[in-house]
Amino acid sequence: MASSDELHKRRQAAVARGVGSTVTSYVDRAAGGTITDVEGREWIDFAAGIAVSNVGNAAPRVVAAVREQVERFTHTCFMVAPYESYVAVCEQLNALTPGGFEKRSALFNSGAEAVENAVKIARHATGRPAVVVFDHAYHGRTNLTMALTAKNMPYKHRFGPFAGEVYRVPMSYPLRDGGLDGATAAARAIETVEKQVGAENVAALLIEPIQGEGGFVVPAPGFLPALREWATATGAVFVADEIQTGFCRTGDWFACEHEGVEPDLVTLAKGIAGGLPLAAVTGRAELMDAVHVGGLGGTYGGNPVACAAALASIETMRELDLAAAARRIGSVMTSRLRAIAERDPRVAEVRGRGAMLAVEIVRPGTLTPDPTATAAVSAACQAAGLLTLTCGTYGNVLRFLPPLVISDDELARGLDILDAAFA
Ligand SMILES: *Cc1c(COP(=O)(O)O)cnc(C)c1O
Repeated sequence: MASSDELHKRRQAAVARGVGSTVTSYVDRAAGGTITDVEGREWIDFAAGIAVSNVGNAAPRVVAAVREQVERFTHTCFMVAPYESYVAVCEQLNALTPGGFEKRSALFNSGAEAVENAVKIARHATGRPAVVVFDHAYHGRTNLTMALTAKNMPYKHRFGPFAGEVYRVPMSYPLRDGGLDGATAAARAIETVEKQVGAENVAALLIEPIQGEGGFVVPAPGFLPALREWATATGAVFVADEIQTGFCRTGDWFACEHEGVEPDLVTLAKGIAGGLPLAAVTGRAELMDAVHVGGLGGTYGGNPVACAAALASIETMRELDLAAAARRIGSVMTSRLRAIAERDPRVAEVRGRGAMLAVEIVRPGTLTPDPTATAAVSAACQAAGLLTLTCGTYGNVLRFLPPLVISDDELARGLDILDAAFA
């Protein structure tokens, strides 16, 4: 087998530089909560391919379902010749997402594509143009979703001009907004919308219930419910981007459930199909069905192999109760992270929910972000065999997204490495 060094040389000659990687080694295989590189070195995985392999890498049910489907047929295009698994995935999503109302779903390939389609549906159904998004938001890398995403480097820099009718308003970020309560932070965002956009022009209010790439920002309690209430009152479509938070990651099927918020539309991807590319928009039947026949779709959207994987992943989450697993992981991790925070003044905050946790790193005694220290801790983890990711507008958040099937032993070993990396 080629070594990581050899593969890296080939990569430099063949792969566009704009596509980066966290790790310099090359993967040979991965299973459950670990990844093994071509040198035979094993990492404990606190990244899950960015919250994708919630059911674990190469999860047994997913492998069996994919194998069976790939031998039956690989692609017919649902828009040409439909098949049952697409319908079955939509049934599951309609039943699992928050809200007791009648729902419909449509399937796509990537998170960005799901977000684009949610905006298309909201605009079509309301006949309004504006989309309201938040500071620190991340919604993807296509032209419309770059416009929806907040951070310039690396996502937007020199890639404009961007799509219009996108308006950004302040997020609730308790560590950095003086601890505004949820209702006050929501009133601030709503006032911005009403003064600068006009409520009657808003097609969609789009929000991550816990922000992902933007820094695992958990809004103050009451923020999401107040925005939901405003959307209902003004006729804006409330879209929850649960692409990173969904599928048991936060200790429930979806993060909106923690505050009893029922979105009109939900965008889904990442954890949906055990690592196969699939995405969805699920929501109110009257919004979803407002679009004319042929108005939604795509060649690969709801590919049968990806649908088989999604059905197997959802069954795995249910049978293994991975929402409970996420809560258990969360409580083990939180107590270890709090212990680190207590002895290390660079840790300004431990936050998150379930198995979506992060620490924000600053210069001691200030709120000044310290991306250098953050990168150093992450690199030390990597060198010692633990894969972690950074995020945040200021690049100073270390985030943890272990597969929800990680064993107690792997979790403990990972946390020991993290502990030592801080020391
Ligand atoms: C990853 C992500 C996206 C984009 O998904 P892709 O599959 O990378 O296009 C959108 N929104 C959120 C919240 C995400 O975490």
